[in-house]
Amino acid sequence: MKTRSQCRSGVSFFERLPSEVFDMILRRLTVLEVSVFSMVSKAMSCQIVDHVSTMAWAKRMIPQNFHHSRFPDDKQSTYRHYKALGLLFKRCTLLLPTKDRLKFIHTKFSKIPCFMMQCKPTAASCLGFSSYGVFLQTLIAGWNELECHRVFIFLCDFTDLPRKMEIVVNGRPGASRYLELQIRQFCRQVLLDPWSSRKECGFWLTQILKPWPMVSQARLLFILYGPLLPDGSLGWQQLTSTVLSSSALSDLAKAVLLLHTDLELKDWNTSTILAILEEIRVLPQVWRVENVARLLVLCGTTLCYSVLANKAHNGRLFEISKLLVYLILVCEKDGYCMSWVVTLVQQVCKVFTAAADKWSFIQSLENMFSEVTMEIYEASLAGNPQEDMESFQTLCSILGSSAHFHTEILHMFLKE
Ligand SMILES: [Zn+2]
Repeated sequence: MKTRSQCRSGVSFFERLPSEVFDMILRRLTVLEVSVFSMVSKAMSCQIVDHVSTMAWAKRMIPQNFHHSRFPDDKQSTYRHYKALGLLFKRCTLLLPTKDRLKFIHTKFSKIPCFMMQCKPTAASCLGFSSYGVFLQTLIAGWNELECHRVFIFLCDFTDLPRKMEIVVNGRPGASRYLELQIRQFCRQVLLDPWSSRKECGFWLTQILKPWPMVSQARLLFILYGPLLPDGSLGWQQLTSTVLSSSALSDLAKAVLLLHTDLELKDWNTSTILAILEEIRVLPQVWRVENVARLLVLCGTTLCYSVLANKAHNGRLFEISKLLVYLILVCEKDGYCMSWVVTLVQQVCKVFTAAADKWSFIQSLENMFSEVTMEIYEASLAGNPQEDMESFQTLCSILGSSAHFHTEILHMFLKE
């Protein structure tokens, strides 16, 4: 990078101005106007880099208090400001190599605690990470994957992200509550959520997960996309203790689908995704089957079939039957078309080639209907008044689901 005097060797009007006057002109321009100005010439870009390097500029133009922001009532204007800053730094550092660009930008933003994972994650109103996400997205828009990978490595170095992840993946789920939340908020708000395209979101998810073994990937997926409790902490115990709604599980399902369906993410194939799902459904203990079934419904037909077919190939009739009964229950409760699960049962049945195996499968499924109904009935007798009502509703749903499922099957045979 040249010094200001080296930059001033040109003869243009602005370059002949005393630096104080030039700074006065820049002070009257908006961040966006300065960014456009920096593209006029190499010398101008140099002068603007000097200008934005001053403490006075940083103090004036980089708002740091994200808890009581300069724009307290309008987070959109904070985001607009950081988007403009992203453009300014993108444009004025255009001629520098990626490494130097990142270093220069880091010197400007590394002092901000809310950007560097030094802010308390309970500060739900903190706009730090989301503003940094908007800034970063604007800065690196159009960069190739190698450059973006450098950005990731750079961010890891300065935020100590890998060490923090190591602590949470090696510890007991929920033991480092703050750290889990900090990692979730940083990865989601800075790296993943700003991107609307699946391809870019998939790229960043790959960067985050790839360095870790499969068991840790499952843990990280839960930390990043698992359901939250009303107080904002991760609902580790919820999956084992209660039945969750589709909305609580939809983020996790979307993340699993992102890894499964994006063919360009070659690091994951169907069998690794199935293994990750097996790991997730025991975090921190074995989930309630209805939660597993709901997650699978949200993951879609292909993945759902793969899970069931995999169990069928391994002869795990009990597990397939239980999962299918709960898939049928989820269809009934959540209003999905019952013919979807009927088709699924037909496809799974085809995995069994021998007639005797098909018969065992059907028998096991029908017996499971009775067993699950009895379990739900017993739970409705044993629970407290609040749970009684839920169990009673579930009992009605399982009876209704059985009727609808068998109606679909009978209809299919009678119309043939
Ligand atoms: Zn903060």
